[in-house]
Amino acid sequence: MKYLILGAGPAGLSFANRIFERSKECSFLVLEAEREAGGLCKSKEIDGSPLDIGGGHFLDTRRPNVNEFLFNFLPENEWNTFDRNSMICIKGKMINHPFEANIWQLDVTEQVEYLKSIAMAGCNTGQSAPALFTDWIYWKLGDKIANDYMIPYNQKVFGENLNQLGTYWLEKLPNVSFEETILSCLTRKAYGTEPGHSRFLYPKKYGYGEVWNRMAQNIKDYIEYGKVIKSIDFDKRMVTTSDGDSYAADVIISTIPWMEFEQMKGIPENIKKGIDQLRYSSIQIEYKDENISSDAQWIYYPNLELDYHRILVRKNFCPNSRGYWTETNLNRVGSVHGMQNSFSNKYAYPLNTINKPEIVNRLLTWARSKSVFGLGRWGEWSHYNSDVVVELGINLADKLTM
Ligand SMILES: Cc1cc2nc3c(=O)[nH]c(=O)nc-3n(C[C@H](O)[C@H](O)[C@H](O)COP(=O)(O)OP(=O)(O)OC[C@H]3O[C@@H](n4cnc5c(N)ncnc54)[C@H](O)[C@@H]3O)c2cc1C
Repeated sequence: MKYLILGAGPAGLSFANRIFERSKECSFLVLEAEREAGGLCKSKEIDGSPLDIGGGHFLDTRRPNVNEFLFNFLPENEWNTFDRNSMICIKGKMINHPFEANIWQLDVTEQVEYLKSIAMAGCNTGQSAPALFTDWIYWKLGDKIANDYMIPYNQKVFGENLNQLGTYWLEKLPNVSFEETILSCLTRKAYGTEPGHSRFLYPKKYGYGEVWNRMAQNIKDYIEYGKVIKSIDFDKRMVTTSDGDSYAADVIISTIPWMEFEQMKGIPENIKKGIDQLRYSSIQIEYKDENISSDAQWIYYPNLELDYHRILVRKNFCPNSRGYWTETNLNRVGSVHGMQNSFSNKYAYPLNTINKPEIVNRLLTWARSKSVFGLGRWGEWSHYNSDVVVELGINLADKLTM
């Protein structure tokens, strides 16, 4: 066949649907390990309403071309639009996210302590930006926000890998200057750049998984499920699955984590060594049937005594629903967690370790020379959100079929 697509998450589905849209005669096949499509963006019905089993997922509105593409499958009138309302629980008090734009919601004496600390931060005293994420937190936000919120919160999300993270990915974080923090305290309203998802869409009736289900349905004759890929031969452009089936193609589009290939034929040793250095973290989602009296769609918990780092308040984005779900780094999940209504995702966050850009750049450039294209969160080992991988999938399909 012409294109073999590994993985039926948003990246693989977008590439495949775009190829299909451009030419119904084009020969392609998607191989997916699980019994259903959607990857991290899958949903399940729990306690009468949808639950996103890969964690809370919302469609950002900043890429209108991506939204239009997805409306072909789940029409625009089947989505609700929300303005983001997310909170941080800090020592038992709730303040809006981002922290540094909403210090004004704390007592005045506490505001003063935070402002004094930010004034002393490296970025405000002329020091140059450090290369490690943990150092950068102190440099950008000062000791107090670092110690009360950013360090413990990120420790919970990234575990022992926190100290290995670089700073090249921080455009994902809100950007609020010291001046803007002071302004917000004086005028009692937030200033600074809006964080991601400041406006987002969520399906009216279904979970986030529905749009990917429909994309999979559109190309149902071109997907094989339950196919766990175990090895790849780069020279023959051939993969083999755990049940011993082999598939070859002119071009391979890989959206699966590179270490899923237990055997790799024809790969240079230095590229293979790079893959061995890639890191990821895992997440557990657990549903609780209690109602929470908050208007926030989600709440961050830096408190290290709690296993979870974020909760999603379902009723605030999923009409007529109840309960909430927690997100916990799998390494922190204690034995008290029951198995019922809990879902583990081995590959949740590709980690932005210091040497990752160089490793991935070398890997992708070499693989492309073999007509194997890494695509999406795992193929490109980047913290991409689903709207980004859809765009990348569409663009790659357009480029290859030009
Ligand atoms: C907690 C959390 C919250 C998030 N929130 C948002 C959000 O609000 N909005 C947003 O847009 N994005 C969000 N994201 C990001 C979003 O999940 C990803 O951008 C998206 O899932 C990436 O799609 P993908 O196809 O690249 O990867 P995936 O969704 O991971 O899909 C990869 C696919 O490959 C398959 N696969 C893996 N190994 C094999 C194998 N050996 N053989 C065959 N198949 C295999 C998997 O089963 C899966 O179907 C969030 C992610 C997390 C972890």
